[in-house]
Amino acid sequence: MIPSGVVTVSYIVATVLFILALGGLSNQETARRGNWYGIFGMIIALLATIFSENVTQNFGLLIVALLIGGSIGLVLARRVQMTQMPELVAVLHSLVGLAAVAVGFASFMDPNKHYVGIDLTIHDIETYLGILIGAVTFSGSVIAFGKLSGRIGGSPMLLPARHWMNLALLIGAIWFGREFVLQSAAGGGITPLIIMTVIALLFGIHMVMAIGGADMPVVVSMLNSYSGWAASATGFMLNNDLLIVTGALVGSSGAILSYIMCRAMNRKFLAVIAGGFGTGGGTPASGGGEEQGEVHPIDPQETAALLAGAKEVMIVPGYGMAVAQAQHTVFEITRVLREKGVNVRFGIHPVAGRMPGHMNVLLAEARVPYDIVFEMDEVNDDFPDVDVSVVIGANDIVNPSAQEEPDSPIAGMPVLEVWKGSTSIVLKRSMATGYAGVQNPLFFKENTRMLFGDAKETLDEVLKAL
Ligand code: NDP
Repeated sequence: MIPSGVVTVSYIVATVLFILALGGLSNQETARRGNWYGIFGMIIALLATIFSENVTQNFGLLIVALLIGGSIGLVLARRVQMTQMPELVAVLHSLVGLAAVAVGFASFMDPNKHYVGIDLTIHDIETYLGILIGAVTFSGSVIAFGKLSGRIGGSPMLLPARHWMNLALLIGAIWFGREFVLQSAAGGGITPLIIMTVIALLFGIHMVMAIGGADMPVVVSMLNSYSGWAASATGFMLNNDLLIVTGALVGSSGAILSYIMCRAMNRKFLAVIAGGFGTGGGTPASGGGEEQGEVHPIDPQETAALLAGAKEVMIVPGYGMAVAQAQHTVFEITRVLREKGVNVRFGIHPVAGRMPGHMNVLLAEARVPYDIVFEMDEVNDDFPDVDVSVVIGANDIVNPSAQEEPDSPIAGMPVLEVWKGSTSIVLKRSMATGYAGVQNPLFFKENTRMLFGDAKETLDEVLKAL
């Protein structure tokens, strides 16, 4: 056992490391270092907690639990494909929520609890908040996992009186919370606590089920934020300063990310949470899968010729690049074109792929230089000067109907305006829609060419021809 002073110092060191980790993760060049800070911070936090005076017995049980949890984490992290990362993140959020609920009930039922009077009331409110946020995070993340992995359909489930239902659930959760605190003071309280937990679980399910495909990024970052607040509330429950601070860091950084995502999608945060944003005043998003004219196919050799003859090339990667794992070929093509004197740039939409920063991670992995990778706002005005845009497995993020069709489920979302360039080449396997389930008029434009096939296979052909 180590003295409490050492534990406090360790917690401060861990906190500083977590802050450095967040700072590092804000930039590709320092992200790897940021990860290491996080890993060391977590190791210090774990060791300090295990050897603190709070743990006096059951070391064997603790080690078994650590081994089981650690092994599951290791196997999952090793097995997961890049395309499944968002689902993994959703599962991890759900586990944080579940842990907050479990700790809340354990803390309430602890026979050695020594709180009385106002201390008991404060502890009960902490317990209530921890379980409430934890339960919403848990059920919401499970549904988000279902939607991201395609087990649950992407279109929003819009119940007729959904706003009233949300309001009723909120009032119910508050009322049973009050009952719980009052009854707990008299020695009871478990029944309202359980009812409140069920209400929170239902709220989490309803909230995420009502969110349409294209708004999922906001939900993922919002659940990330909730998981932080749930951990923070657990920290208050357990009187653990490190958990409070770490939870607050995750909660606030997740909230900032949600805000950034909302701005990127041109959405209002509350409107997304209230559900069904951009669905034409409450009707479910239409499939919009109907085709709209003729498409102009192109083959890899013609694509290579167009690229070799261009001065300005813009590459727009999307989810399909991740599916095809085409990033390394993309890098090779970029290298060859740059050697030929072509100015190649990448335009990255903030919600491209299935998680924030998804494309940046893939391009960094393939060693594409950072200085030719630009955010949407930095390049969107340049498309009129672009000779060839290469849209690799992207769909929603280059869909002109976001600007042209007010009834579209993605109406108002900023998109990369590739159609304003001389020629756009779209790489995909079929005419299928993207995540939001809407057809894309880009594919039918006069200056668009469709290069059908798996993006990796077609790009390998293009590279060979180059
Ligand atoms: P989309 O999902 O809109 O489109 C991806 C396209 O890639 C599909 O149309 C598909 O067409 C094609 N594709 C799939 N596999 C391959 C392959 N092997 N080779 C070639 N093409 C392939 O992706 P975008 O990146 O354009 O947009 C992201 C969408 O995901 C947005 O709606 C966003 O809101 C949503 N989202 C984003 C999250 C984030 O945090 N970034 C999180 C959750 C959702 P085909 O089947 O014909 O090949």
